[in-house]
Amino acid sequence: MSEPSAETALPQAPGPAERGADPVISETFVSVQGEGKLAGVPSWFVRFSGCNLRCTWCDTPYASWNPDGHRRGVAALLAECAASGVRHAVVTGGEPMIFEAVSGLCAGLRDAGVHVTVETAGTVFRAVHADLMSISPKLSSSTPAEGDPRDPKAAWRRRHEERRTDLDALQRLIDAHPARQLKFVVCGPADLEEIRSLLGRLRGWAPDDVLLMPEGVRSPEPAVRSWLVEQCIHLGWRYCTRLHIELFGNQRGT
Ligand code: SF4
Repeated sequence: MSEPSAETALPQAPGPAERGADPVISETFVSVQGEGKLAGVPSWFVRFSGCNLRCTWCDTPYASWNPDGHRRGVAALLAECAASGVRHAVVTGGEPMIFEAVSGLCAGLRDAGVHVTVETAGTVFRAVHADLMSISPKLSSSTPAEGDPRDPKAAWRRRHEERRTDLDALQRLIDAHPARQLKFVVCGPADLEEIRSLLGRLRGWAPDDVLLMPEGVRSPEPAVRSWLVEQCIHLGWRYCTRLHIELFGNQRGT
């Protein structure tokens, strides 16, 4: 198995060498879904390693800023899911939609009778099966700051800003997946205006699809939680917990 180095293995967008190759998988594990409409559901997780973005607050840097993992074939992943006995799968990352293998994996899970959630930032459209398409568009508050030591030449700051919103990809994902959620990480009041503006440029979503989640890898302060709950009531959107953080803390494999 090959192991990616922190700098070279992005798969930022699959190049010729990446097409058809087994994807780099950072981790697989069984836990309960922590976020979104299916929070609390026992699920088998598969995390693709590599991302075309670099969110400043990324909670899975081992699949973005410093991608780790091993190449694994789709057949082996399907066998592992089947052996887990769990009937829900969460295909996540990193950014799973930049990997060609995600289509075969999702089709195989569907054929095995497993409910499939795909978690994506919505910057890439790819035809995949998903019983729930979980789209998490990235706001300007996600962009790495100037002077971020992880990004000394600000190259990722520039790329992230160029890539983080692709209206065409977002619209195609919404149109292709009637079972969907639009999950936003909220850092503060300015984000709400940006979310409204973005949603105003998209068609076909319902208020029930929109979830707001406080930023952070710890349980939010009560004041932050209360503020965001009030906003959700006012806007008619959903408040989104991070159940896995409350249950297990910020740990890998949960
Ligand atoms: S899109 Fe997701 S995996 Fe990629 S940097 Fe942002 S939070 Fe991390």
